[in-house]
Amino acid sequence: MEAGANVLTKKYVRCIVCGEIMEEGTLICPVCGVGPDKFVPYEPESSRYHKDTKEVYIILGQGIAALSAATAIRERNSTCGILMISEENELPYNRPMLTKGMSKGISEEAIVIHDRQWYEEQNILLLNGKKILAIHPDKKEIQLQDGMAFMYDKCIYALGATSFIPPYKGAQLPEVVAVRSIRDAKKVRELAQKSMNAVVIGGGILGLETAWEIHKIGCKVCVVEMAPRIMPRQIGPETSQKLKDIAQSVGITIITAASVEEISGETHAEAVKLADGTLLSADMVVVSCGIRANTEIAAEAGIAIGRAVLTDANMRTNYNEIYACGDCAEFEGINYALWTEATQMGKVAGANACGELLTYQSDLYPVTFHGMNTTLYAIGDNGGTPEQGIHVVPGDNNSNDSLELYYLDQNAVVGAALLGDTTKASLVEEAVKGKRQFNELFLNKTMKNTKGETKMEKYICNVCGYEYDEAKGEPDNGIAPGTKFADLPADYVCPICGAGKDEFEKA
Ligand SMILES: Cc1cc2nc3c(=O)[nH]c(=O)nc-3n(C[C@H](O)[C@H](O)[C@H](O)COP(=O)(O)OP(=O)(O)OC[C@H]3O[C@@H](n4cnc5c(N)ncnc54)[C@H](O)[C@@H]3O)c2cc1C
Repeated sequence: MEAGANVLTKKYVRCIVCGEIMEEGTLICPVCGVGPDKFVPYEPESSRYHKDTKEVYIILGQGIAALSAATAIRERNSTCGILMISEENELPYNRPMLTKGMSKGISEEAIVIHDRQWYEEQNILLLNGKKILAIHPDKKEIQLQDGMAFMYDKCIYALGATSFIPPYKGAQLPEVVAVRSIRDAKKVRELAQKSMNAVVIGGGILGLETAWEIHKIGCKVCVVEMAPRIMPRQIGPETSQKLKDIAQSVGITIITAASVEEISGETHAEAVKLADGTLLSADMVVVSCGIRANTEIAAEAGIAIGRAVLTDANMRTNYNEIYACGDCAEFEGINYALWTEATQMGKVAGANACGELLTYQSDLYPVTFHGMNTTLYAIGDNGGTPEQGIHVVPGDNNSNDSLELYYLDQNAVVGAALLGDTTKASLVEEAVKGKRQFNELFLNKTMKNTKGETKMEKYICNVCGYEYDEAKGEPDNGIAPGTKFADLPADYVCPICGAGKDEFEKA
């Protein structure tokens, strides 16, 4: 079979929650974990560009950026050599699944993207368990730690990132771990099975996902977040607070605005000491404090780096024959470090290395979280730029365990958060990407909110003293939270005494 041919005959679906593209028949989205009810048919763009050559493409790394690049190359060039090198021993796998299935146990077979036969069919050579030491652009050579060296015509730098572990005293203790690889995820599970108390440092998505998995294994978990609230960069204060409440209600302790001073213990982790002196018992510690792009090899080779490896819109570095993509790459000042962006960057890098001219354009991808018996979907600006006067307006679905919020710039929807019930994800995605007018989408709402806050009023019934709270609405009577008093129907009556609307006065 001609390499690459089967790519074109397959059918694909797109996850409406996170944007991941998968082969039809996939049962669970490898990025966000939702099922086929959230998948819609997807027609991939096929390139007409094709040029068979005898060139050698060496791809550094075997993550999703590397694999997307390899796939894009093979689709455009059936005869070139493609070699992917990684220090990991596994076939390329779905990294986001690491923190989503930890409690059940992570098996390589369950999370690999393609089986070995696929690489054979595509004539893509995998070299595993090999540490890359250097690139010599002058000789167009890749040097491995074990002394092996390979010559390339084009090189794709896709070395990803490494978990950042702040240099706390005690960070080297054997029960301290950060999750980046299958090995790390297995270690967390093993530790959780024999530990009583776990502390997770970092209340971002990965920290919270890991906390939930450890909790499910049966360990007592405390999450320590330095910022005043959890997931501060991805979601607004209302959603943070609700998620924190939900987490605490399932038994996970969350301490915010707290900084870690050290991990105590002589030979084993015993506690996490906070700056205010609080000691949190911990026989295991998961550090989830972000990542650092793997740039050292690039920097040594004279490739320009900023926070990550600098690329132009074609994913090309300052060397003509070297492209960069994924978590190790920076474009227009941003190091995205997201699965779907890494996939897209890899595709652009691979296609352009073959001679096509594709431009990378970042898309607006949502943040998703599954855990604590709830699900979260947030997209766009969630109040991260209050100085721009973003208003927050509640949608229809706000209760003890759910939340639906829209972030508006004037009347245009620029962000949204769904917590507890994410069935409106595709509607919300379309609204945010299209900057749709909120009034058009939700005709029964008015917005007179002030800068950065939800301005809701209360109205008192002059007959019996009942108070109508716009923020709460009257869900039992079918009046959604956030419904302004002025928008209540003309025949609205006080649920206590039956007095008409004109008997109410602003509190
Ligand atoms: C636990 C976890 C959960 C995540 N969940 C989500 C999510 O829900 N949604 C989302 O959008 N993103 C998520 N991400 C981020 C996402 O996984 C990454 O953005 C994506 O995997 C990056 O792919 P990459 O190919 O750029 O890098 P990587 O996947 O990091 O691949 C880099 C490869 O290079 C290899 N390598 C590095 N240095 C060397 C060397 N010197 N020699 C040899 N090989 C080397 C590495 O071993 C690795 O195989 C998650 C990440 C983690 C860790």
